[in-house]
Amino acid sequence: LIPGIFLLISSFSQKYPPVKFLSEKDRKRILITGGAGFVGSHLTDKLMMDGHEVTVVDNFFTGRKRNVEHWIGHENFELINHDVVEPLYIEVDQIYHLASPASPPNYMYNPIKTLKTNTIGTLNMLGLAKRVGARLLLASTSEVYGDPEVHPQNEEYWGHVNPIGPRACYDEGERVTETMCFAYLEQEGVEVRVARIFNTFGSRMHMKDGRVVSNFILQALQGEPLTVRPLLLALLLFLSLGNPEEHTILEFAELIRSLVVSRSQIQFLPEGQDDPQRRQPDIRKAKMMLGWEPVVPLEEGLNKTIQYFSRELEHQANNQYI
Ligand code: NAD
Ligand code: UDP
Repeated sequence: LIPGIFLLISSFSQKYPPVKFLSEKDRKRILITGGAGFVGSHLTDKLMMDGHEVTVVDNFFTGRKRNVEHWIGHENFELINHDVVEPLYIEVDQIYHLASPASPPNYMYNPIKTLKTNTIGTLNMLGLAKRVGARLLLASTSEVYGDPEVHPQNEEYWGHVNPIGPRACYDEGERVTETMCFAYLEQEGVEVRVARIFNTFGSRMHMKDGRVVSNFILQALQGEPLTVRPLLLALLLFLSLGNPEEHTILEFAELIRSLVVSRSQIQFLPEGQDDPQRRQPDIRKAKMMLGWEPVVPLEEGLNKTIQYFSRELEHQANNQYI
């Protein structure tokens, strides 16, 4: 009886982050594919707190339940374990299509699956958008520019991608998703939006993401050498936004090492095949049309990410025997 009472009390005292009240007319039914991932879970928080009804669809390939667990049980929230490669029949007003592994080790792990997710998955979501008359936002990527020959990259640049290189499954996959969006717009009148996101970091990013920020922070926290590919220049990046500020990878390694107060060495590695040499977003259009520009200063963003990684490492150490 006593454990029963305890369970009852704890389920009543369950707390959610604060949610705005929206009238039925303003409240949207929103689908977020990949909503248990890094960017998607922050978007889930924002839209839930704004008072919308959010359905997260995710197959948990790189995302995890823990990223959205604070919403489970809320009447405006639903989590569906589903692979977007399979058709999905639900009723929604808006779709944020983010389901796609974003980092090279993840998308190269199973290139055919990556291609299926990007092509068939996006086709399914556009088919859904067409059927229900929903607006669809595609989270595309700066990888559509490949190893760019134009610098900085604006929306008019068509890119420079090796169609059969190791990164092609993602780069070409994302390029064709953009083509599909514009075909559905032209032919079917589906309202589409495409955002090309540049390399982004923050809390809830995959710890073994394999890209520069997570690698350097983990290496610095664990006292391992920071692995720098010397020629690369990075563009920097904050939650779902691109920052035109530019730094060398070496500067970046040194900054992270000093923020972590780590004694890690810096180790130089040879370049990876088809690695982009340099990328920097031209954000003039975003600024003019959306009034958007990055707001989180680099060091603040890095410090928050470092804190998140430290907490996660601690959590993993405490739970390794469970
Ligand atoms: P992430 O890996 O954390 O999130 C992707 C999510 O999609 C994960 O939760 C994963 O489990 C899910 N997913 C993958 N394949 C799926 C499938 N077949 N069916 C259902 N769910 C699936 O990555 P992220 O950084 O949050 O990226 C989100 C989106 O933004 C992706 O489309 C990515 O291509 C794009 N993007 C991200 C960045 C970045 O720097 N983070 C840069 C450019 C573009
Ligand atoms: N689709 C889906 N949900 C829907 C409507 C369509 O998953 O609510 C899928 C459907 O299975 C198809 C794809 O989206 O594979 C493209 O649909 P569309 O209607 O654009 O093309 P068609 O079915 O006419 O080939």
